[in-house]
Amino acid sequence: MRAVVTGGAGFLGSHVCERLLDDGHEVVAVDSMISGTPANVAHLRTRPGFRLVRHDVARGLGAAEDGPVDLGAVDLGSVDLVLHMACPASPVDYAAHPLETLDVASRGTRAALELAARSGARFVTTSTSEVYGDPLVHPQREEYWGNVNPIGPRSVYDEGKRFAEALTMAYRRSLDVDAGIVRIFNTYGPRMRGHDGRVVPTFVRQALAGEPLTVCGDGSQTRSLCFVDDLVEGLLRFAGTHEAGPVNLGNPHELTVLQIAEDVIAATGSSSRIEHVDLPTDDPKVRCPDITRARELLGWEPKVAWETGLERTVAWFRELGVAAA
Ligand code: UDP
Repeated sequence: MRAVVTGGAGFLGSHVCERLLDDGHEVVAVDSMISGTPANVAHLRTRPGFRLVRHDVARGLGAAEDGPVDLGAVDLGSVDLVLHMACPASPVDYAAHPLETLDVASRGTRAALELAARSGARFVTTSTSEVYGDPLVHPQREEYWGNVNPIGPRSVYDEGKRFAEALTMAYRRSLDVDAGIVRIFNTYGPRMRGHDGRVVPTFVRQALAGEPLTVCGDGSQTRSLCFVDDLVEGLLRFAGTHEAGPVNLGNPHELTVLQIAEDVIAATGSSSRIEHVDLPTDDPKVRCPDITRARELLGWEPKVAWETGLERTVAWFRELGVAAA
């Protein structure tokens, strides 16, 4: 099978590329490098069947209406699977790149769908738990339509992803593309950037550097954290079906942010203290996936316990060195 992975040099995308190669597939990773980095796939560069293209999918993927698109020497011609994963995913990143975020969710999703349509490929868009906004239903089931502020600072991501879902369904309904949607909840693991702003890499970096851990607000807000390997397994199982979804992918083990900070301090053996800082605007108060649908459709559920995943993540950051994180 030949797969195109947009965002293939990102945190999640790079793990997906690696797993596809391990499974014997050819992979073209397309990445603008806004939040991805070639270092994430450096170890894949010599593997047969792997290509990395530095390119913004929002500029098109070579369909007639895209105009000239420079994909280097790579011909995307025959493709079996398009995984559309490109998008800044950290609130800090999408606040810094609001227009790029909207572009990749709209034009980028359209370009990836067009590629799937003309190749007859399976298409999966990686949506997000953020489509539920600050949820009034807990845990979140796929049937819940969400509580999103359409003009707040997070809206470029939330509404962008909601638009991408609508576009995906329109291609499925009217153009018969084998397209589906997964909604990814908070995921963590090796290759997150220490400065990407998200809670786990931030706390681990701070703890290893002996700096205070910046807990936003009183830390009573919750998140449910999925280790990257589990997420990749669920995503590829979904890609192997013809389902439309949406399907929630995440680990229902729910923790307060304060608990996450305390666990990181314990896992690193750090003497860092906790410092409370301002809560970002529209920060969701709770988040936890209901994964009944993933269990039923994919026979999938997360296997890696938080303690184990955290240990692996800390080990990776230690190896990287605090200065590089
Ligand atoms: N958070 C925190 N300190 C940080 C970074 C994040 O307390 O240094 C909190 C943030 O306010 C949110 C949660 O951790 O409640 C998860 O934030 P993250 O940016 O990882 O992702 P989100 O789930 O908000 O998209």
